[in-house]
Amino acid sequence: MSDIYQHRARKRFGQNFLHDTGVIDRIIRAISPREGDRLLEIGPGQGALTDSLVSSAAKLDVIEIDRDLVEILKDKFALSKNFTLHEGDALKFDFTRLEAAPSSLRVVGNLPYNISTPLIFHLLNNAHLVRDMHFMLQKEVVQRMAAKPGGGDWGRLSIMVQYHCRVEHLFNVGPGSFSPPPKVDSAIVRLTPYAELPHPAKDARALDRIVREAFNQRRKTLRNTLKNVLSNEEIEAAAVDGSLRPEQLDIAAFVRLADQLSEQQAAELL
Ligand code: SAM
Repeated sequence: MSDIYQHRARKRFGQNFLHDTGVIDRIIRAISPREGDRLLEIGPGQGALTDSLVSSAAKLDVIEIDRDLVEILKDKFALSKNFTLHEGDALKFDFTRLEAAPSSLRVVGNLPYNISTPLIFHLLNNAHLVRDMHFMLQKEVVQRMAAKPGGGDWGRLSIMVQYHCRVEHLFNVGPGSFSPPPKVDSAIVRLTPYAELPHPAKDARALDRIVREAFNQRRKTLRNTLKNVLSNEEIEAAAVDGSLRPEQLDIAAFVRLADQLSEQQAAELL
């Protein structure tokens, strides 16, 4: 009997195991792992992707939270010298522990839907270490990541991901490719951090604050949603029309607002 029948999928860990070999091959081709690569897989589960990642001869670290699966993975990859297993929560993992060179880590994961957004934010905080990321996510989340300004999908996730990375929605995957099947469609996304940010903010925390405040009430005008952080004059000093709604602004405009906030905070300290 194979491992897939021995382990009962746990809902609280978002376990939907990939069994479709066509989809697995397509993901591996998209990643195209090579000897010498530094791979990090989040949530290897029973090893659907891990098998091919290990056989690429790249150096592979994996982080798995489920103790039962950790035992299965230990047995399965005991002989693979390029394989290192970390038991624990990827949301709390200190990526600097991997001692990876700047822009070297290639992160991979069929991510549990309940942790995908916080995990991606955690990785973006370490974007300088990352060469690229390939994730299986809920299709709707990928659409939000890849969205353009002006529509309902454009929001905090789109802006914070696109501030750091080029985003490619590679292909969609239906529920039947997983066991048990999830209730939603999934998609594969590739995120590639920019070597140089196209629109660097003076202070990334100010950008985070502005974007959060702006999208707290996405139907209201910027003048209204930002009133606790910037006056209408300050919004206009950033060359932004305060009567627009947040979803109408591109990243460059959000960065100008964030820089305005940073300047105002610096002036208050004088
Ligand atoms: N990669 C496998 C596959 O494609 O079949 C499993 C994918 S399953 C959707 C998600 C995996 O992430 C499970 O193995 C689950 O136990 C693990 N996981 C869930 N939460 C986690 C966390 N916070 N940190 C690390 N792994 C986690």
